[in-house]
Amino acid sequence: MILKQLRRVNDGGFSQKFLGGFCFSRLGHYEPYSSSSTAASPVQEISEAAMGDSESHRGFDESQPANVNWDELGFGICPTDYMYMMRASKNGEFVNGELNRFGNIELSPSSGVLNYGQGLFEGLKAYRKPDGGLLLFRPEQNALRMQMGAERLCMPSPSVDQFVSAVKKTVLANKRWVPPPGKGSLYLRPLLMGSGAVLGLAPAPEYLFLTYASPVGNYFKEGLSALNMYVDDEFHRATRGGAGGVKTISNYAPVLMAQRCAKKRGFSDVIFLDSVHKRNLEEAASCNVFIVKGNVISTPPTEGTILAGVTRKSIVELARDNGYKVEERTIPVEELMEADEVFCTGTAVVVAPVGSITYRDKRAEFRTGTGTISQALYLNLTGIQMGLMEDKKGWTVEVTE
Ligand SMILES: *Cc1c(COP(=O)(O)O)cnc(C)c1O
Repeated sequence: MILKQLRRVNDGGFSQKFLGGFCFSRLGHYEPYSSSSTAASPVQEISEAAMGDSESHRGFDESQPANVNWDELGFGICPTDYMYMMRASKNGEFVNGELNRFGNIELSPSSGVLNYGQGLFEGLKAYRKPDGGLLLFRPEQNALRMQMGAERLCMPSPSVDQFVSAVKKTVLANKRWVPPPGKGSLYLRPLLMGSGAVLGLAPAPEYLFLTYASPVGNYFKEGLSALNMYVDDEFHRATRGGAGGVKTISNYAPVLMAQRCAKKRGFSDVIFLDSVHKRNLEEAASCNVFIVKGNVISTPPTEGTILAGVTRKSIVELARDNGYKVEERTIPVEELMEADEVFCTGTAVVVAPVGSITYRDKRAEFRTGTGTISQALYLNLTGIQMGLMEDKKGWTVEVTE
């Protein structure tokens, strides 16, 4: 059954290599995370110079600037100084939140998150402004999304105030890790998990909310150049009635195989179609997708199988403010292939232009670079996020001591 499925995925002789283990065994060449695989990566430098092993971690000197090569930041994990933790028991109230040194956490082998995937994640960024101030972008949107996800997974969740305050404290405690203006951002990763022990399938009796941080640069190894995407019409990211609309951790491991195979063939990432008709555009592995045709910008509606990105929502608003017609509607893959421009949006990728899409045996190319709508939207959005442009929308939140 599985072999049959694999074979169907890989026409054109690829199945042989795939089944021979080729697809799984040689990572690295097409890896997008420039910082995670090479010996000279900033992660390596940090773990040796600033962090040491977990024992000497205690000896770090917070008064020193972070030992990071800001010009070589990719999207790899770089351990920082502190993480924020807060727990809730059965009654669902999160209490006693506090900053702890960044490090390993202890979990019961029978915790809900390890056994049944009862967990959510979030992602948002803090930018350093030219005047030194620190800016978050719409953090309350991430808090609300975590609440929606928690409801779907039968978990208690922090209040919006608790969430935003936890994120701010994590930024301040790790502020020496916020890259200089123009060099990247401090990525914040809030987690919510069923930490209590269960054996029979049921919601866990205890919950942990945790936020850690890592300095990041570009998500894709392509940097700001265009992505080459592969449409996978066999594997699906989400199904109707499933949990694709919330940021549950269980949505991501199933995407890895499709993503890895696409990368092995030289593509940047995968675009998924709807699982019912195998025809309509959904989204990429971890970002939303837009198309431009003439002066109309379109993106699929968020009806449960697409993650409602904060970036997506912000781009829809900015585009409308700039006079474009924006439609949230079903987009057949044929229409995707005939677009003038295609771009991806997400906190990690920001607004990333797509240069080509391969679907079955067809490859379509799209406009990228100077003068494109996606570039204008990228500059508008990042101008606000980085504090370079006036924030007329009230989207940014300054983080102060
Ligand atoms: C997080 C995520 C996005 C982007 O959401 P943002 O809020 O813009 O970061 C899009 N798709 C998936 C599947 C995601 O996990």
